[in-house]
Amino acid sequence: MKKQLLLSFLLFLSLSMAAKEARIASPNGKLVVTVSDNDGYATYSVTLNGQLVVMPSRLGFKADFGDFSQGLAITKEQAGTCSGDYRMWQVKQSNISFNANTLTVGFENGKNQQMEVDFIVEDNDLAFRYLIPRPKADNPKCAVITEEVTSFCLPDGTTTFLCPQIDPMKGWERTKPSYEEGYRADAPMNVRSAYGQGYTFPCLFGLPPTSSPKGNSTEHGGWVLISETGVAGYYCGSHLSDYAQYSTGYTIAYPQQGENNGFGSTGAQIGLPGATPWRTITVGETLKPIVETTIVYDVVLPLYEPSEEYKGGRYTWSWLIWQDNSINYDDQVKFIDLAAAMGYELCLVDNWWDERIGRDRISQLSAYAQKKGVSLMLWYNSNGAWNDAPQTPRNIMHNSIARDREMAWLQRIGVKGIKVDFFAGDKQETMRLYEDILYDANRYGIQCIFHGCTIPRGWERMYPNYVASEAVLASENVFFSEHAAIQEPFELTLHPFCRNAVGTMDWGGVIMNRYLSPDNKSRHSRKTTDVFEIATAFTNQTAVQCIAIQPNNLLPHTGGVDGGLPQHELDFLKTIPATWDETRFIDGYPGKYVVLARRHAGQWYIAALNAQQEPLNLTLNISEYNVKNLLVDVTDKKGVVTGSAVLPLKTDKKGIIKLVIQPCGGAVLY
Ligand code: CA
Repeated sequence: MKKQLLLSFLLFLSLSMAAKEARIASPNGKLVVTVSDNDGYATYSVTLNGQLVVMPSRLGFKADFGDFSQGLAITKEQAGTCSGDYRMWQVKQSNISFNANTLTVGFENGKNQQMEVDFIVEDNDLAFRYLIPRPKADNPKCAVITEEVTSFCLPDGTTTFLCPQIDPMKGWERTKPSYEEGYRADAPMNVRSAYGQGYTFPCLFGLPPTSSPKGNSTEHGGWVLISETGVAGYYCGSHLSDYAQYSTGYTIAYPQQGENNGFGSTGAQIGLPGATPWRTITVGETLKPIVETTIVYDVVLPLYEPSEEYKGGRYTWSWLIWQDNSINYDDQVKFIDLAAAMGYELCLVDNWWDERIGRDRISQLSAYAQKKGVSLMLWYNSNGAWNDAPQTPRNIMHNSIARDREMAWLQRIGVKGIKVDFFAGDKQETMRLYEDILYDANRYGIQCIFHGCTIPRGWERMYPNYVASEAVLASENVFFSEHAAIQEPFELTLHPFCRNAVGTMDWGGVIMNRYLSPDNKSRHSRKTTDVFEIATAFTNQTAVQCIAIQPNNLLPHTGGVDGGLPQHELDFLKTIPATWDETRFIDGYPGKYVVLARRHAGQWYIAALNAQQEPLNLTLNISEYNVKNLLVDVTDKKGVVTGSAVLPLKTDKKGIIKLVIQPCGGAVLY
């Protein structure tokens, strides 16, 4: 009996010892990923400075030819290094270099089929993807990936900053999902998402305090940002599921069947050998690595050469406040003249231009704009088949014959960019459409902005003429509803840490009208100060920067805040850059306030936004930055903002300055 017990104990020991582990550390050794095959499940966990930041979480997927979600054993591992040094023009930084350690872990399932997991680990970032070799048995050369079990389990007490995935074919003219839902900040993990469909990338998490918790939810022991990159036409976009407490946490979820009006697959069809896109995790003890991360660009490569040197620029846009009524020749001339007066490079003509202005007159309008040193961008409906959005031009961008003809014409009349709206979701079919539009547009020297769309997933590097996506509850909502106007400061102090940290974001405009109306006195008011709005041009990042200035903003300044803009604001607006060489996080808390520094050529700008109802006192060390002036809100004796002023910056000997940022106000140091 004793012998039998000992035997079963030894058997148990040998079984549990059979679990294999593989480890990879970042170049500085502080970020460590541990991969295991315990109980036949492929798992990974992540520590930063010895603190567990991602608990053991599942790896694997299910394909038509095999199940790689269970019964797995590690069969091999191969370590290495990789580095990169590349130039970007559309994102937060122009010269990017990185060093990483790499690890490829091979797994085998019960049928002797292979899966490999490829890890790239930088000091504050990791990316991983699945490599799928061609199986020997039956020798299939293509596969359908139906489901992933990849999960993200975060420590108890983690709070979330997430945007819900909405049900498909909802919203205006059945155009959802389009990443245009409101974020919740500092919510617990175990609440159902708003629609029960999980959350769109990127997903930001605040880790629980590591020591002496004071019960203050604003104290976090670290930050985690999860997203994905490298999604091209060969795969679907994914998002995170709702949270499964005590089991798998958040799981990679594929598109919903109902997207694209129910047409097309939810999984991915790939050739073998093949690879999935990269899933990325950025980890920081502070928010600095989150804001400054370049992981979504580091692990992808350009898919084609640019046909010309694309430059981006600032643009005026009549539609935001003058709406559909402004889509006529004479009103567009006013916004071209406005762009020219401000020295801006571009003017966007929004929906219905083909019907209300006509193709001949658009060609004349483009010639008029070019004489003034301004280039036009034109709006297009992405489709004719998958939602009810009626705006024209329709039936062009989803058809390669019509699209090619159209783009040749756009090039002939000197149009520099297109804004394509109302995509159908994240299915592989739709990802192919994005890629096809981008590739064709590049052949004719045209830059692409997407609206009503998904987030970019490394696209700034993959597609050199890709400039920006909406994929945010953008400025149009500030026009549509007073509620969105009230939410604007919250949203814009959140995005530098989340949506805008992984991709350029076309928020759609620094709004300078006091009221959201052409007469600047009817409808609801804007809830932010002028300086808040101007500072968003620095906290929001997009290489085609909308300055939603209106013709009435050039009227004589009559005092107060309701007339034309004061000259110093106009002068400053003219100088705002659209592209950046460097971005640094200085201070902030998602949804409350943000202070960022960005450099364009030799000029630094430090921009601050305060979304809170109380004035924010900041103490900043600006000794590293060559800034001399301060654009800031001015208040009366009661603390009510009455306007703005440019003041000389006065620091102490150590370069320290104290600033007060007004509620829903801002500051720019330059
Ligand atoms: Ca939109």
